[in-house]
Amino acid sequence: MSTVTIILIFSTHTRVNHVGGVFTVDRFKFLVTEKIDEAGLKILEGAGEVVFASGTSEETLIRESRDVDAIIIRALGRITVGVLSNALNLRVVGRHGVGVDNVDVEAATKRGVIVVYTPDVNSEAVADHTFGLIIASARRIAQADHALRTRAEWKFRYECIGTNVYGKTLGIIGLGRIGRRVAKRAYGFKMRILAYDPYVTASPAEDLNVEIVDLKTLLSLSDFVTIHVPLTKETHGLLGEEELSLMKKEAFLINAARGGVIDESALVKALALGRLAGAALDVFSKEPPDPENPLFKMDNVVVTPHMAAHTKETLRDMAVTVATDVVQALIGEIPRNIVNPEVLEVLK
Ligand code: NAD
Repeated sequence: MSTVTIILIFSTHTRVNHVGGVFTVDRFKFLVTEKIDEAGLKILEGAGEVVFASGTSEETLIRESRDVDAIIIRALGRITVGVLSNALNLRVVGRHGVGVDNVDVEAATKRGVIVVYTPDVNSEAVADHTFGLIIASARRIAQADHALRTRAEWKFRYECIGTNVYGKTLGIIGLGRIGRRVAKRAYGFKMRILAYDPYVTASPAEDLNVEIVDLKTLLSLSDFVTIHVPLTKETHGLLGEEELSLMKKEAFLINAARGGVIDESALVKALALGRLAGAALDVFSKEPPDPENPLFKMDNVVVTPHMAAHTKETLRDMAVTVATDVVQALIGEIPRNIVNPEVLEVLK
């Protein structure tokens, strides 16, 4: 077999070196921190060796990323300065998901590491789940299921009186990719839709039948408040005791964004004192949360384990998107979903 044939076989996803008439082919090494869909793994395996991290603590990631070309991370674990400075071969971090609050993007950029993510791939699934949480809260579906299943309580049908969703007012905090998808669903429910997003102008909001208002107005008028902002310095603790006290007593708070956006102890207090009708949470200030988290003991709280994006289709699409972008970055192409495009200047 000639050298040329070898290159044709391996060149799609590998680095071909040509030094003094000798061709060598590099296979990449990928550290994957949590399970991802097979379709994404196949892409990575086509380009090199995949190793799974034995845990997601900083210590483990530092130890196990020393010789890898790329790390694929999901919601658990953090790509810290410590990880970035010890992983000497690292050139790409792939975030399977949208929130990059667990990646030190600034440090990655300084170090010349490209960060890619999977925007929009999960928006419809998260919007569906958000609506599921809205309806589950309003109609007390989780409590009814529990009463019938564990205590055979048929009489719960007389006690379990819900509230309408159709025609009510929905407040969306963060009118981005997911917030807009939630608005589209709410329109079908003939809801009045309010949104607070200081970075959105009125015109795209009009297409969605959304009224842009300030945060106080949104909180005081909405029957359901749903959060779709990224976790940043600015949004950390955005909803604290004062903001929660502005909400109607009959209102529900939904969070499928990031736990840190709500002051969780202020939420526990508001729920315990009956200042809110209920909450539905897919995300928590600490994940996984402590089993003793007081929210788990409250009847008017619906919880899911950070799974708003978890549909077969979306998990597959996220895995394929992140794996494709990671490999593209490694072979010197510009990936489609780059978080820190300014890194390309650093790499020039
Ligand atoms: P996006 O960037 O498209 O939208 C975020 C919106 O928030 C933007 O319109 C932005 O202007 C707005 N925003 C930023 N700061 C704000 C502030 N201080 N006040 C009000 N609005 C502000 O992101 P997206 O794809 O819609 O995702 C939103 C977030 O949802 C992600 O950052 C992630 O944390 C979370 N998420 C969670 C899951 C899950 O599994 N639960 C899945 C996907 C995304």
